[in-house]
Amino acid sequence: MTGNIRYDNQVFVITGAGNGLGKQYAKFFAARGAKVVVNDLGGSFNGNDAGGKGTARVADAVVQEIKDAGGIAVANYDSVQQGEKIIKTAIDNFGTVHVLINNAGILRDITLRNMKDADWDIIMDVHVHGTMKTTRAAWPFFKKQRYGRIINTSSTSGLFGNFGQSNYAAAKVAVVGFTETLAKEGAKYNIYSNALAPGAASRLTQTVWPPEMMEAMRPDFVVPLVGVLAHDSCKENGSIFEAAAGHYDKIRWERSKGFLARADESLSADVILNNFSKIKDFTDADHPTQPADMTSFIEKASKLPPSQ
Ligand code: NAD
Repeated sequence: MTGNIRYDNQVFVITGAGNGLGKQYAKFFAARGAKVVVNDLGGSFNGNDAGGKGTARVADAVVQEIKDAGGIAVANYDSVQQGEKIIKTAIDNFGTVHVLINNAGILRDITLRNMKDADWDIIMDVHVHGTMKTTRAAWPFFKKQRYGRIINTSSTSGLFGNFGQSNYAAAKVAVVGFTETLAKEGAKYNIYSNALAPGAASRLTQTVWPPEMMEAMRPDFVVPLVGVLAHDSCKENGSIFEAAAGHYDKIRWERSKGFLARADESLSADVILNNFSKIKDFTDADHPTQPADMTSFIEKASKLPPSQ
């Protein structure tokens, strides 16, 4: 990949960087001056042999590739569930961390009816708890140096739902709420957090996509947007992006103008039924980053005639 963008002397921690998207991120940033912690426990795509019994030490192979190309990288083999150990690898080797890319992930696709507790729990553990653990461990370093960039990996399954992925969808939309909150907590310290819903050929998609789709969806086509979000010039904070096959976009919430009723005994389900089309009408909608202003609703509603 060409281009002039650089990350000299920046320390990157990239989880799940032994395969797929994470590996492409690691190689991209290391090739442009970053010092990279390549985290991966070398598990199977469904987390069944997490801990290195399967494709153990995939992180080493990526580190070697980076070093062979003249870059700087170290491997870490801990699960993201022990996020503090991954951040410690960055601190021990490079003294700090500037950019955290929470990318590690697994799938346990199964319909809700057939889902075991273990299928739900492991997805939450890796995607939600793992993302929190690394972020919480990196946060004091970000805050102290008044600089941090966090890219959390969501999914269209989390944003829109997907058949057979209720566990994964729940985890991936949790990552969005987490990111939106980090954005608010970090803004004043120059810690900016964004969520990415990528689409790329990988172990996670090879069983569902045909070969031509796998070729069109190369993981390196996701990388350029991550390259921008991770750059110190980027002030984006609390946003959700999609990236796949050379297409990039931003997703946001939309709130209808809605229907305001007098909130007293005249209010009933019949009133809502009579006005349901207004509640769902997106004419003149806005794009909120905050809850609606309830104080103004309370004041306006009190002056309305009885609801009907
Ligand atoms: P991948 O399987 O190629 O790579 C994921 C890596 O994460 C693997 O190397 C795996 O060993 C590692 N990993 C798994 N559990 C871990 C843990 N507990 N600790 C540390 N490492 C762990 O998958 P990918 O497609 O590159 O996926 C990367 C991320 O993108 C995931 O979060 C995934 O959910 C998300 N995603 C991918 C797609 C897609 O189209 N590929 C779509 C939406 C979201």
